[in-house]
Amino acid sequence: WKKTMKVAVTGAAGQISNHLLFMLASGEVFGRDQPVSLQLLGSERSREALEGVAMELEDSLYPLLREVKLGIDPLKVFEDADWALLIGAKPRGPGMERKDLLDINGQIFQEQARALNEVASRDCKMLVVGNPCNTNALIGLHNAPDLPRRNWHALTRLDENRAKCQLALKAGKFYTSVTNMCVWGNHSTTQVPDFINAKIGGKRAGNVIRDSKWLKEEFTPKVANRGGALIKKWGRSSAASTAVSIADHLRSLYVPTAPGDCFSTAIYTEGNPYGLDEDLIFSMPCRSNGDGNYEVIQDFAIDDWLREKLAETEQELQKERDCVGHLIPG
Ligand code: NDP
Repeated sequence: WKKTMKVAVTGAAGQISNHLLFMLASGEVFGRDQPVSLQLLGSERSREALEGVAMELEDSLYPLLREVKLGIDPLKVFEDADWALLIGAKPRGPGMERKDLLDINGQIFQEQARALNEVASRDCKMLVVGNPCNTNALIGLHNAPDLPRRNWHALTRLDENRAKCQLALKAGKFYTSVTNMCVWGNHSTTQVPDFINAKIGGKRAGNVIRDSKWLKEEFTPKVANRGGALIKKWGRSSAASTAVSIADHLRSLYVPTAPGDCFSTAIYTEGNPYGLDEDLIFSMPCRSNGDGNYEVIQDFAIDDWLREKLAETEQELQKERDCVGHLIPG
């Protein structure tokens, strides 16, 4: 047996976790030969609910699940964590400005990052899901100076999955035929689903869907506004598909990326090959050799249209960073 993988999860009594925890425990994410321990962070608010979650996990008799640890103190819950899945965050309420949300959630991520810096495994990897996820991850990175900066991720895989779905539907092909699909930038409406480099059945998407007006004017808003459209129908935000995308994200790091393919993850831009501001968490095309790490793909074609869109999402992230300057040391 492999060494147990210790996975800390925040917001563990929330909607997304309610789907995700069972996928983690079953072995479908880290592998059928990888024992896992789940270290769940809750709050006074969620204490009872969290105990309920743990009971359901225990009753599922997952052979790979070695331990379920619960707590409300990040310094205890994050101890020796190999992964921290940071899902818990205050949702945006009616009339709340983005700036207020950035501030409230930024404080949560500052505190959790400091705790990770103290007690997590020295190679702990972090995936921020709680919104605004890119900037929360940037705050985290700067408040955990002893952890590798490249280990911070923010989730844009749901956006990638949504983009693949829309291209496949438009082309009348199955989802798996869409490859090399990167969603660049912020997990927000300025995100950039890249149909320039995407392929359908191995051909450039623009040569399969010969409708540049649709690609430029309809595809992007369809993908970027999918979350809002779902809330209107369902009455709550996407939970199951988000959990699936978190599982996809993690699996992409432990299974070698197929030649000519990529996955999207928002990572630190330091030293990036695309001339982007070097102090942002920005989604870029990556590949992995399956060891849990990634490299940024260097040779994506950037035309004028894409360059302009990348600049817009970059500016939005710079503005978000300006709003949380007080949470970033030095
Ligand atoms: P839920 O509302 O179900 O759960 C959120 C959890 O956050 C709660 O269980 C709560 O846990 C915790 N929380 C922390 N601070 C607060 C606070 N001040 N007020 C209320 N709750 C708080 O949310 P979801 O699981 O549906 O979503 C979690 C996050 O993921 C959200 O920020 C959402 O916007 C984001 N998201 C990101 C996506 C992406 O693609 N990046 C996609 C979909 C959602 P506790 O009481 O234990 O602290």
